[in-house]
Amino acid sequence: MSHKLSPLLELQKLDLRVVEINEVRRKIPDRLHTAEAPLLDASKILSDAKSAVETAIKERRTHEKDLEAHEAQTEKMKSHAASLKTNKEYQAHLFELELANKKRGDFEEKILLCMEKVDQLQRTVADTQAKVKALETAFAQEKKELDEQERVLAAELAQVEALHREAAAKVEKSLLERYNQIKASRKDQPLAAVRDGLCLGCRLQIPPQLIAQVKRSDDLHVCPYCRRMLYWEGEPVRETSSALSEAKKADMEVGESV
Ligand SMILES: [Zn+2]
Repeated sequence: MSHKLSPLLELQKLDLRVVEINEVRRKIPDRLHTAEAPLLDASKILSDAKSAVETAIKERRTHEKDLEAHEAQTEKMKSHAASLKTNKEYQAHLFELELANKKRGDFEEKILLCMEKVDQLQRTVADTQAKVKALETAFAQEKKELDEQERVLAAELAQVEALHREAAAKVEKSLLERYNQIKASRKDQPLAAVRDGLCLGCRLQIPPQLIAQVKRSDDLHVCPYCRRMLYWEGEPVRETSSALSEAKKADMEVGESV
């Protein structure tokens, strides 16, 4: 690893961490929203069921009033029975009574149906209330965890940014400008390691001469394809073999040094 590049590599690590932190933080409101959705759904079902209970009770009262009015009318009709004179009038009266009884039966059935509906809806209300309570607890827990995560990440970001300022201050100005330029144009890491003959930034094969230069040199070298600054991950390699000497000879003709 080149001494010139190691502060930049530190800077890049911090930059990557900033991106990671921002990415996780960006998703927190969505995660909160998703966690709250089942609670909002259940609360809606609860309020709907509650108003359905009220409606059913009102409906029952209406039928009860209708029945009362009907009973009063029937009583009045019965009281007139004594004044009936002819058989025909009496037959008509019996027919009216029969109709009145049938109508009363209809009212009673409607009232019964309403009462069953109220019972059923009240069971739904009780079940949903229990569900809402459990969901409230679960959501409160989830929210607490997400709030805590947000707090921890915000604190870490402030710390990373401070370290970033410190690290940037240690880098030579022109080098830092170059680093920032590549960062802005590539939208990601300005530094790329060389491994297995490839630039890990663009995954393209690097000429062997350039690899040899990156391996041993303290100078800056950039990838000919993506222009990222190349670095060797291990210790700088000293020329020991004749093969490397050959490579060095070649360097003098086609320098990639920056
Ligand atoms: Zn590259």
